[in-house]
Amino acid sequence: MGTLVEDLIEWGGGVLGEEHMETLMSCVQCGKCTGGCPSGRITALRTRKLFKMAQENMVEEIFNAPELWYCTTCYTCYERCPKGVKCTDIIRTIRNLAAKAGHMSVPHRKIGVYALKTGHGVPIGPDQMKIRESIGLDEMAPTTQKYKEQLEQFQTICKETGFDALIDFDWDKMNLKE
Ligand code: SF4
Ligand code: SF4
Repeated sequence: MGTLVEDLIEWGGGVLGEEHMETLMSCVQCGKCTGGCPSGRITALRTRKLFKMAQENMVEEIFNAPELWYCTTCYTCYERCPKGVKCTDIIRTIRNLAAKAGHMSVPHRKIGVYALKTGHGVPIGPDQMKIRESIGLDEMAPTTQKYKEQLEQFQTICKETGFDALIDFDWDKMNLKE
């Protein structure tokens, strides 16, 4: 295991390219990302601060920072950064590393529960079923939530990739382990 920046480049680079991840080192702390962050207006998320922590290899601090999980991935910061820092993708990759190290936020783990139970992070509920029916659609869309066999295929993928272990999922309870 290297520094956080090295791990980011290695882990995220495999998906997005190393140059993409290396843009973190171009951050000059101007704060334009934080200034335009919709989440940061109502939460403790400070994008600029996260990047400073990452550059300074404050691994434990950043992995345990609740605000790491407050980003909605809207990509405003990504568009605004004058230095071409691939902000949102870097935040998402820091989250991946934090999750691998056992620090995924509980709300994100709970979205994973929905995914494992229905195949959807946001499953169709009774309100959506009524709306669908009111406009002439079947109450359920033709997805994993409707078709058990396809859901089982999806669940198999989650088991084989270790996603169930990543969120600490209990297959007997069909919920998080407590
Ligand atoms: S806008 Fe870009 S350069 Fe400025 S603080 Fe944010 S990431 Fe760094
Ligand atoms: S992508 Fe995340 S950090 Fe960037 S502006 Fe949107 S909510 Fe804020």
